[in-house]
Amino acid sequence: MKKILVSACLLGCECRYDGKSKPCEKVLELAKEKDTVLIPVCPEQMGGLSTPRLPSERQRTARGSLRSISRPGAVLMNDGTDVSSAYRKGAEAALKIARIDGIDFAVLKSGSPSCGKGLIYDGTFSGKKTEGNGVTVELLLKEGYRVLSEEEL
Ligand code: SF4
Repeated sequence: MKKILVSACLLGCECRYDGKSKPCEKVLELAKEKDTVLIPVCPEQMGGLSTPRLPSERQRTARGSLRSISRPGAVLMNDGTDVSSAYRKGAEAALKIARIDGIDFAVLKSGSPSCGKGLIYDGTFSGKKTEGNGVTVELLLKEGYRVLSEEEL
C-alpha cells in the first residue's frame, strides 16, 4: 500500500487563501488507485490561518534580493503581516502526520509559500516566481522525504 501526503486543495478542498480549491486531474486519478492511500493536509490551515485569508509570499532566501528584507525566508501577507510562525506550525503538523502515517512521498501544490517545490512566488506580490521551496516542503525535504509537485507527478 502506497501512502502519499497530498495538498488538500489539489483534491478539491476549498482551503486556499481565496477560499477556492485547485483540483488536479492527476491527483484525483491517484485517489482512485486501489493500492494507494492519499493523506490530505493543508499546512496553512493547520498552522491556524483562517480561510479566506490575505495572500502571502515567502521572502527571498538566497542569491540577491529585490528589496531589503530583515528576515530572508520569512512569510509575509500582502499587508506586511509576518505569518512565519503560522507557516512553521503548519509545516511541523504536516511533518508529524507524515511520520505517524509513514508516508512514501508527498505531492504538494506548486508555487505556494507552504507547499511549493522548486519555484515559488518571489515575495514581491507581482506574480513573478523564483527558485525556492515553501516552508512545509523545506521541512519535509530536510527530514529526508521525497516531495513532488503536482506538475512533476
Ligand atoms: Fe493548498 Fe498547501 Fe495552500 Fe493549503 S497550504 S491551500 S494545501 S497549497
